[in-house]
Amino acid sequence: MHELLPWWNWVWQGVELRHIADILIIAFLIYELLRLVRGTRAVQMVVGFALVAVLYEIASWLGLTTVQWILRGAAVYVGFAVIVLFQHEIRAALMRLGNNIRLPLAQKKRRDANPFGQNWYDEVVLAATTLASEKLGALMIFERDVGLKTYIESGIRLDARISYDLLVTIFNKYTTLHDGAVIISNGRVAAACCFLPLTQNPLISRELGTRHRSAIGVTEDSDAFAVIVSEETGVISFAVDGRLKRNLDGPRLRRLIQQAMEPWRSEAESDALEAEEREREREIDEVVTTRKRDGRDILPSTQGEEA
Ligand code: ATP
Ligand code: MG
Repeated sequence: MHELLPWWNWVWQGVELRHIADILIIAFLIYELLRLVRGTRAVQMVVGFALVAVLYEIASWLGLTTVQWILRGAAVYVGFAVIVLFQHEIRAALMRLGNNIRLPLAQKKRRDANPFGQNWYDEVVLAATTLASEKLGALMIFERDVGLKTYIESGIRLDARISYDLLVTIFNKYTTLHDGAVIISNGRVAAACCFLPLTQNPLISRELGTRHRSAIGVTEDSDAFAVIVSEETGVISFAVDGRLKRNLDGPRLRRLIQQAMEPWRSEAESDALEAEEREREREIDEVVTTRKRDGRDILPSTQGEEA
């Protein structure tokens, strides 16, 4: 033990704060890289690269110069290969990084721009449940902080107020606008018939076709979320961060939309506000029923009052 002490002292004196920072940063980057590739097709490729590296080590240990020479030559192109093969993952990682940095600013902007109770949540939920009950396929993408201009430009510009009637009309299969995705940006229907990138994730269920795959694809590429209605089954799904939640009913869908639009609210606050909103709706229903029962018009008619 005593013989080891001088050696240990020598090592310890050589260690500076920057070396520790160096190691911590590398450990963090490796950890983030592994987290990024977990559950994607990149895993197999990382394993492939690791095997090639092991092969190179074995070749240099056994003195196989030709194998070493070929592998060294191939290594030059590894950088290009990584960029091409992992373009989706790299884009997603950079986007997440940029998003985290400007999150506080963006959230403040969003909080001001989107106060709770905007009734478009209900318009979207009602449209989705109606379309589902009639087995009409629909795909709606909701922009958040990352702009979806590229996809909006691939479709037909609308720039219209979000309403149940508009959404149900767009996804009616006899209209020319029903094919592709509707993109909702800044509380308005920006465009219809938009073309989206399909997810490349091999772990996605085979029963999901291109509508669901494109919804997942756009949520991998951006922080947008998607509401999907299946034409085949009438099932309503919600996609965010490349993941899909299926078999949703109206209230559950509304909750997910609200959580995605207003992530800063606590669960209890959302519950209280939703209950308040439902109470207001109930009061309006009561007034309408009382007026109907009393034989009065549902809306106060100005003509009637004038007469
Ligand atoms: P469903 O359950 O409704 O059948 P699905 O996931 O099985 O959906 P498909 O049956 O392949 O998917 O749905 C085809 C429809 O999905 C197309 O008619 C089109 O409206 C839409 N769609 C397909 N690919 C894209 C895309 N890349 N971008 C936007 N919309 C797309
Ligand atoms: Mg299908």
